[in-house]
Amino acid sequence: MSAHPLAAPLLAGSRRALARAITLSESTRADHETQAQQLLSEVAPHAGQSIRVGLTGVPGVGKSTFIEALGVHLADAGHRVAVLAVDPSSARTGGSIMGDKTRMPRLTVHPNAYIRPSPAGGNLGGVARRTREAITLCEAAGHDVVLVETVGVGQSETQVAAMTDLFVLLTLPNAGDELQGIKRGIMELADVCVVNKADSDPKAAVRAQTELRAALRLLTPHDAPWRPRALRASALTGEGVPEVWAAVLDYVGEVDVAARRRAQTAQWFDELLREAAWRIFREGLDGNNLRTLRAEVEAGQLTAIQGVAALTAG
Ligand code: GDP
Repeated sequence: MSAHPLAAPLLAGSRRALARAITLSESTRADHETQAQQLLSEVAPHAGQSIRVGLTGVPGVGKSTFIEALGVHLADAGHRVAVLAVDPSSARTGGSIMGDKTRMPRLTVHPNAYIRPSPAGGNLGGVARRTREAITLCEAAGHDVVLVETVGVGQSETQVAAMTDLFVLLTLPNAGDELQGIKRGIMELADVCVVNKADSDPKAAVRAQTELRAALRLLTPHDAPWRPRALRASALTGEGVPEVWAAVLDYVGEVDVAARRRAQTAQWFDELLREAAWRIFREGLDGNNLRTLRAEVEAGQLTAIQGVAALTAG
């Protein structure tokens, strides 16, 4: 098979080729999907060299501002930064919580940066798949830092944690109130917590940091390979932002990232396999039979186990 025409410019670092490649991978047209898979398998051997950072926090915590500050800091230092967004609201509504407002104006025009908004449409599983593919494409195009932003309101955090090397949680100085708003599950995913907007109320920020530290200590098992850190920063003034990156580098130095990625890949394979197995199984099913059985289970005439057995018994 001849090489996909986007492969060479993509590998040479063309931003335009990268944008087109991601668009291709987001397309649901069957011929595009085939092309995208061809391209991905061609460039995948050149991917994998970036630090993949997931980043979340409730709307308004300052994610855009923080990513802009961190991104510009890194891009100025010569890193090639890619920013991807996962926003399940765009999957549901076609619109997006992150919105179309001009986010990250300085990073957007930085020659070392590439920013891609969340793909609209499709279910969360589809968004996760396309984000994984976008990470691969960004890496193949030479990006050595990939920041994956998520809106911090639910399921997408788990998905993003399953495709990144570490997870950064942004919080606010009024942590007492805020900790209740953050789902415990999200705290458990965090490798680095940052009290943002420390400039707005420095004393409260110190208190919040102390509380976060205590909460993280409680959540972290004694034998964990990494003790999650709590830091303070101001995305607005830039103070504390380099320290957050230093913590990311410490993490990458201390934790076996390659092992984490291997486990993530295996888990992803299992997930795709489950999906494919279900699709194949379902295609072979008599839809009326399935509906009747489900109705019987719902009505209590059959137990769920009996219903499944009736469908799967050879
Ligand atoms: P997002 O919804 O999490 O992406 O939050 P934004 O980045 O859009 O920020 C929400 C608001 O908080 C904006 O008005 C920002 O200017 C402001 N903001 C963000 N970071 C800081 C900060 O460190 N200090 C202060 N004082 N304001 C901030």
